Amino acid sequence: MTLSRHDYLRAMGIDTWQLKNTSAAIPDDWDGLRREVAACTACPLHHGRSQTVFGTGNPHARLMVIGEAPGAHEDRQGEPFVGAAGQLLDAMLAAIQLSRRDVFITHLLKCHPPENHAPLPAEIAQCTPFLARQIAHVKPDLLLAVGRIAAHHLLNTQMPLDTLREKTHHYGETRIPVRVTYHPAELLRNPADKVHAFMDLQQVWRLL
Ligand code: SF4
Repeated sequence: MTLSRHDYLRAMGIDTWQLKNTSAAIPDDWDGLRREVAACTACPLHHGRSQTVFGTGNPHARLMVIGEAPGAHEDRQGEPFVGAAGQLLDAMLAAIQLSRRDVFITHLLKCHPPENHAPLPAEIAQCTPFLARQIAHVKPDLLLAVGRIAAHHLLNTQMPLDTLREKTHHYGETRIPVRVTYHPAELLRNPADKVHAFMDLQQVWRLL
């Protein structure tokens, strides 16, 4: 079954998307945080990076999208989710009438792990205070964890991704709602799961 954006929006009775307070000033230390990340040498990943990947999009977004770590293309371009997986993420957002300018997209880690190794616990522990500060500044209404590793960190659990996708969770003491979906790279390997991912995005839209 192929579901278009129009199908979803019509089924949900959605007409427009409201951005949150886009005229507000960016918090004073947002740029300082960006500089801190760019200069960080706290874990060994800084040795192999071309540049850090801070994140992209609206620093006042209602939705933050969080993946696990920059890939090689992202390391070269300094942007999260580029290449084929990035195009698929863009399509997933477009299905609920959003673009990457409307949301804020980042990763647990800000540096590319060589050989695309899965983020190590020590790397996550060292780097995710930056993510926590980004979340504190953006103050999103909803976090979307894409992929198992991001979900496990945000929710402090090891439960299977398919189990986590089924409900709304909450992040830390702030209790920001969290939804979970597949990583776009995983969807490229298993296209049959795309329809489930778009259903996850429907839930995101409903919560927003
Ligand atoms: Fe610093 Fe994070 Fe890069 Fe490690 S991955 S060097 S903690 S910015």
